[in-house]
Formats: sequence, C-alpha cells, structure tokens
Amino acid sequence: MPELPEVETIKNELLPHLVNRHITGVTLFWDGIVRQPSVEEFCSCLKGQRITEVARRGKYLIFSLTSGQALVIHLKMTGSLLLKSASAEPDKFIRAIIHLDKEAGLYFRDPRKLGVMWLVEDTNSIIGKLGPEPLEACFTPQILAQRLAKRKAPIKALLCDQGFIAGIGNMYADEALFAARIHPLRTGESLSRNEIEHLYGAIQQVLWSAIGNKGASVDTYFRPGGELGTAHFQFQVAHRLSGKFCSKCGTPIERIVVRNRGTYFCPHCQPEHPPAPR
Ligand SMILES: [Zn+2]
Repeated sequence: MPELPEVETIKNELLPHLVNRHITGVTLFWDGIVRQPSVEEFCSCLKGQRITEVARRGKYLIFSLTSGQALVIHLKMTGSLLLKSASAEPDKFIRAIIHLDKEAGLYFRDPRKLGVMWLVEDTNSIIGKLGPEPLEACFTPQILAQRLAKRKAPIKALLCDQGFIAGIGNMYADEALFAARIHPLRTGESLSRNEIEHLYGAIQQVLWSAIGNKGASVDTYFRPGGELGTAHFQFQVAHRLSGKFCSKCGTPIERIVVRNRGTYFCPHCQPEHPPAPR
C-alpha cells in the first residue's frame, strides 16, 4: 500500500499542477468511494471550488478549497491518483474523476475499491489522532524514546500504528528495523537508548531515500503521471520472499507474522535476544 514516501511523492507531483485550479465537476463510477458527506452533497459542494493547497499528513492527502472545506483522500491498499486530460478514457479500475479546468481531470484509480474520499470542514475529524510526522523537526530521538516507554507491543506493530507514528506501514517498518538491526518482535520498552537512536536514524534514512526514488511500485502504485517509483529496488528485506539472502551477512531472510502483518527480517542481523550492553 502507498506509505509516506509514496503519498509524499504524489503530493509533490500534484501540487504544481493543482494549486489554483478549479474543480468543474465530479464523476463517480463507484459511490462507495465517498465516505462523507452524502454523494450528492460531495459532488455539488466540490463543483466550482478552487484548490488552494495540497498537503500530506501521514498517508492522507489534503486538498484545501476556497470554501474553507478540505477534500481528504486515503489511497488505502491499491489507490492511485492520475492526472490526465479530460478526454482520457477511464479504465475499469477508475472509481472517480475530479474534473478540472483546462481540460484536465484527476482520476482516482483503485482496483480493490478500498480508497476513501471525505469532504470536511475540519480535517481534525479525520487526521486528529495521528502520531507525529517522522520527517518533521519536532520528531526527535527523545520523542521516540518517550513514546516507546512502557510499550509492550512489538516494535513492528508500533511502527505501523498510525497513532504511534504517522505514515509508516509494512514496507518501511521492515526496512527501518533491518537498517537499525532490531528484531521486529522486540517490545517497545525493551529498546535501549542506543537502539532508539539507531531506529530514529533508520526511519529518517529509509523514508528520505524512498522519497528520493519517488516511492516503491510493488503493487499498483503509480505516480500522478503514470510513472512507477523505484524505491523497491533498494529494499533489503521488505517484500522479499523468505529464502532470499541478506545482503549484509548472507543469511536467508525469514518471514514471520506480527499482528497479522507479513514481516521480513534477517535473523542474524536482527537477533531476538541481543547481547546485553556492556
Ligand atoms: Zn543479515
């Protein structure tokens, strides 16, 4: 599913094309994509609005509108937003088109129909409970340490918990834990100060690197122009079939399930019981 680097790439690539553009109408091919308000109200309220800003929070895209409302989009597992000419023929997975001025349209493509759109007065009703943004200056090793204290959940599950930290999902949690040499089943409270510093640095490194590579096209992720991202070519463990070998030590990568999530790690580089610090 698109995670922070993919949604950040989409935001970065849509922003110059969408700010100050007018929405001329909405076509829905599947009404279930609108969560709030009613489909009729959603379509009538969007028509005529100008987009004033495009932002990202966690895995959400936020389009601010002249009415003071915001269009909030979550792409979930398989969603993409494609910027096309108004005459482009929608394929069978296009669930909605937001028509724009200058003969353009934002096409919401979503094979599994899990993506959601909301039109809200106050974005806090959707994103208010998200944890800190990992790439913002207010997120520090000290903040991470505070949030990990007394947490008995596996670190893999905490990293994927949007209320704990925003934007990280299965792929980048696995990559960050590999880079920090931390076993995914270690509890939050068990991490040493040193390990927390490493984990903090690993989160920054894997996310910035993936943004630089325009996201990972492992499933159905496309950039707004239809191009793929290349971040998955850098993956060390995520989405590797078990049995492939660790690039650092040659040990076969293992797959376990942590809170219903397939999790890849190197059992040698990420020991479950690391030696006690001297
Ligand atoms: Zn290894």
